[in-house]
Amino acid sequence: MSDMITCPYCGFRFSLMYSRVVECSGCREVAFGRCGYARCPKCHREFPLSMGKGSPLPWKFG
Ligand SMILES: [Zn+2]
Repeated sequence: MSDMITCPYCGFRFSLMYSRVVECSGCREVAFGRCGYARCPKCHREFPLSMGKGSPLPWKFG
């Protein structure tokens, strides 16, 4: 699967499906697959999916 994403805040790498189950349970938007956000299972911050894909964000390099 290619649903691995990286948290732009803490750098934690996790599966989108995993975060959906663990962090987003009960969210109706997710049930319909419309949610454009992911929540990090480690630091519990929410960010747009586009931020979690591709290369890390510039601020990670200080
Ligand atoms: Zn995080």
